[in-house]
Parts: sequence; structure tokens; C-alpha cells
Amino acid sequence: MCIEKSPWEQVIDFHGHTCPEISLGYRVAQIAMRELGIRPAPNSELSVIADTHSCALDAFQVLNHVTYGRGNLKVNEKKSHIYHFQYSGTSEGLQISINTKMLEHLAVAHDHLTTREKQNKNLEAIQSILGTEETLFCTILKVKLPRVVDLSAFSKPEATEQSLPPPHCSIAPQSS
Ligand SMILES: [Zn+2]
Repeated sequence: MCIEKSPWEQVIDFHGHTCPEISLGYRVAQIAMRELGIRPAPNSELSVIADTHSCALDAFQVLNHVTYGRGNLKVNEKKSHIYHFQYSGTSEGLQISINTKMLEHLAVAHDHLTTREKQNKNLEAIQSILGTEETLFCTILKVKLPRVVDLSAFSKPEATEQSLPPPHCSIAPQSS
């Protein structure tokens, strides 16, 4: 019998190990889905911009279905754990900032510890990241974004534009 994996198991499987940053991403991804609610239009695509590169990004790939390859997951490196979510075609964005206190769990230097102690520290950090009351974990902001930013930053060119032949191209586009 096939037992379906929990979202947490899916994320850890994909990411390849259990760490505080992936648990942070897991929580942010779930908060985002709850706050964003249903997709505004069937062809509307979610985009995520992270203000720092970390393991957390893999949780968005699994839970929010954004990928580096498709270009709807981007990193705008500012060394801060702030995450922006937005559906294409809307002018409303969601900003989730991790509270400073939580980030201490990611910044602990483990060099002087034994492997066992490191594992325990990691586990403690993960439990705290997943278990801390939401208002102490992060700050959620709904932000209004100009529609023009939305379109240029989040959407690919319209299919009709892409299908036009390049200028001076002598090969006629295939017609059906
Ligand atoms: Zn990791």
C-alpha cells in the first residue's frame, strides 16, 4: 500500500537533509499559501522573491510550485530573511519578514560543538522555528505593488509576442 507523504516529508525529501533554514522555508511557504488564498485567475502564476539565498528556497519549490527554471523563484540578495509572494496579474503582494529573534537560530556558530551537540542544537532550532507563535515568528504585510512592476517583474511576454518572427528574418513562420 502506498502511503502519501506529508508536506514536511516531501520538502525534506526534495531538499536532502533536515536543517533550520528548510524548516523556516516550510513555515513561510505555508503561511503564504494561507494568506494568499485561492489563485485569482486560472492562468495566474505565483512568483516568489527572496531577499537572501538559503535552504529555505527549496520549500517554496515544493509547496508553492515555483521553480528557478521557470523563473518565478528569484533571489534579490540583501542578506535578509524577507520573502515576497505575488500572483501575476494582481497588484497585491505579500511580504513575510522573519523576526530577528528567530534568525538567531540560524546564526549560531557550531564549530566548538561535538556532532551530537550540533544535532541537538539543530533540532532545538527546528522545533523553535516550527513551534513559535506566529506573531513572534514573522511579520506579515500585504503590500500594494504597481501593476507595471508586477507585469515586467513577474510575467513572461505574451505568447503572441513570442511567436512573431525576429526582425529581418527571411524564414516565414510556419502556418497551419
Ligand atoms: Zn538545508
